This record gives sequence, structure tokens and C-alpha cells, in this order.
Amino acid sequence: MIMKNSPDSKKNMKSRVVLVECPEYTQETVSRAVQKGIDLMGGVGQFARKNETLLLKPNLLAGESPEKSVTTHPTVFKAVGEVFKNQGIRLVYGDSPGIGNPEKVARKSGLKAMADELNIPLTDFKTGRKVTYARALVARHLTLARAALDAHGIISISKMKTHALTGITGAVKNSFGCVPGFLKEEFHLKMKDINLFCSLLVDITAYLRPRLHIMDGIVAMEGNGPRSGDPKNMNVLLFSTDPVALDSVFCQLIDFNPLYVPYLKIGQESGLGTCNPTEIEVSGDDLKKFIRTDFKIKRRPIQKLTLAQNLPHFIKNIIISRPMIDYRLCTNCGSCVLQCPIPEKAVNWKTGGKKEKPRYDYSRCIRCYCCQEICPEKAISVKTPFLGKMIFR
Ligand code: SF4
Ligand code: SF4
Repeated sequence: MIMKNSPDSKKNMKSRVVLVECPEYTQETVSRAVQKGIDLMGGVGQFARKNETLLLKPNLLAGESPEKSVTTHPTVFKAVGEVFKNQGIRLVYGDSPGIGNPEKVARKSGLKAMADELNIPLTDFKTGRKVTYARALVARHLTLARAALDAHGIISISKMKTHALTGITGAVKNSFGCVPGFLKEEFHLKMKDINLFCSLLVDITAYLRPRLHIMDGIVAMEGNGPRSGDPKNMNVLLFSTDPVALDSVFCQLIDFNPLYVPYLKIGQESGLGTCNPTEIEVSGDDLKKFIRTDFKIKRRPIQKLTLAQNLPHFIKNIIISRPMIDYRLCTNCGSCVLQCPIPEKAVNWKTGGKKEKPRYDYSRCIRCYCCQEICPEKAISVKTPFLGKMIFR
């Protein structure tokens, strides 16, 4: 039994990632693939006892339809739910969306209908509880969703996507949804440095230690993720108890250096897992068959660009990446303004009210990209100035 908060018993052993081919989202195909993956991981008995309640933690970033690849696909969620339910395990599910009411987001993304069919209740992610994590890298005191703390264990069901701030989002980043509501923005504000923020992601994942990580990579998101990118067929489901190894296999699949992702480097150094391909055993279907070198992602180290944040503003503005609004797409909905964690707002309407669309004040902007993450119109993208591209190749 792999228990929550158990010490890593796999020291000096290879981390295992199971890769299962799944070419489409029909329920029958997905259910067969999920069953195969969990069987290859040793079966449900490895992750739950009969009298326990497990939390299914999908990615419910925003209320978008499943075809947009923003959220965990409902067929994957249902397949995982069925496998555990069939073994008599009690389940609840939930996430703290980037924006919107959790129930509405669950409904729009198609998960609520599946959960209702399986009688899996949506649980409370709005209220949190303070915990102390003595072994934390940066966040000794954390407020996490009660639901995540009260469950006997967590099954994380992440979505394979690009991410403007961290390069990719997958198993490790999925844990950030266990921070309730607006506290997420507070963390962005407190941890402006990318290394601090990524250490926080590692702390949360290490504290909660989900028992099993599953990644929906059947149709992933490339380009301007995690909400505004494009769907990309990758045709795989990934399974592992090591979130760093699982994300590293995602990187291998898209021909992206895992050490470009700060939280994977930090996760490896801190012992959360390994992103070194020589320390990962991939079993199931043949990884090589699914590698997509044409996957759209900025193939540059994330860290170098964000470290330049500490430079004076006038230098910063000509070399480091920044969010930009495409005013042809902007509908002036105001979500970016609402989401910006800076009290004075680094993206805002100019004096004169909301008649004009929001504008950036880059001298205030901490480059957290919460605005880009949340824009419902794909109007915000992150651009790197020419000089930055030259310096940080
Ligand atoms: S969130 Fe997007 S669409 Fe809404 S105001 Fe900001 S840029 Fe415009
Ligand atoms: S403007 Fe956007 S990137 Fe800049 S601080 Fe605000 S939310 Fe973050």
C-alpha cells in the first residue's frame, strides 16, 4: 500500500511510469486503457483500502467544454472513478478552479454529469485549513483545501498542457489546485521568483503526496497554454506514483528538456522524484512511437528568462517575456484585471472607466501570467522581446 505522507521507499530504485496508448475519447476505449494502466501499476489494491475515501483531483482550471483540452476529459475521469468504485472505494472529487464557481466549472467541463452517474459527490475546495510542513523547502505553513486534507488519499488526474509560467503543467502543478480560491493569487504575489514559486509547488505535492498520478494526454494542449492553446493529439495516458518522473516522460514525449522546467529540477533535487530519464523505467506501450517533435512549446529554459526579473525595469522590459493583449480578440470582460494579484493592478482600465480595454503597466508586472492563464478569449499571449531571445537562447 502506498500511503499518504509515507517516506519515499524507492530510493536507489528506478521510478516507474506506465504509458498506455489511447487514440480517442470514446468511453469504451478510455475505460479499457485506464483499466490496463492501473493493472500495470499493480491494481487498485496498491492505492486504496476498502473502508477509505479517496479524492479524485482532476484539472478543472476553468469552465470550458472538453474539446478545448483545458480540463481533464470527462471520459478519463469516469473511467478512473469506475475502476475504484468497482473495488468498493468511496470517492469524492473536486478542484479549485482558476476562475469561477467549482460546481459550474465541473458542469461545463462535463465532469459533473459523469460524477453524478457514478454517485461521486463534489467536495469542498473553498475552505482551507492551515497545516505545518516541517520538511518544506519554502512554505512551512500552508493553507490547503479541507477536502484534500480530509481524504485518506488522493488520485491526481492531470491534463497534459503547456504553461506560460512553468513551461508545462502536469502532475506536480495539478497539486496547486488544492490551494483554495484567491489564496493562489496570494502565493503568486508572495513568491514572485520562479524558483520560490516552483519550490512551493514541490512543497504542496510533497505534503499531499497523491497515491497515484494519472495524466490525460489523449488530446493535450500545445502553444499558448494552459487555457488558450490548441488541442494536440498525443494519444497516451500516463500513470505513476512519482509525479516528477511522470512529468519528465511528458517532456520526453514532446522532445523538451525536463530540466528546463524549474519545478522538475527542484523536485528532483529535493527528493520528490526524478526527472532523469536514466532513472525512469517506462513500461506499457513503446514511448518512442508517441514522441512529437512538432509539439508547440517555447524550447528555452524557463528559469533564465524569469531570473532576469530582478533587473531594473527599463532593462527588464526589453529582454524578458511579457503578457500582451490582442485587442482584436479582447471583449473587455475584465477577468485579467480581476485575476492580477498586484494590489495596484499591473493590468487595468485606464482612468476613465471601463470604456477602453485594459492596458498593461509593465513596471508593476511581476510576470506571473495569471492574466494570460485566465483570459477566456485567447486574447493574451506571452511574447519574448528580440533581445531576450538572443540573450537567453
Ligand atoms: S481577460 Fe482577455 S478578453 Fe477579458 S479583458 Fe482581459 S484581455 Fe480582454
Ligand atoms: S499583469 Fe498579468 S502577468 Fe503581470 S502581474 Fe498582473 S496577472 Fe501577473
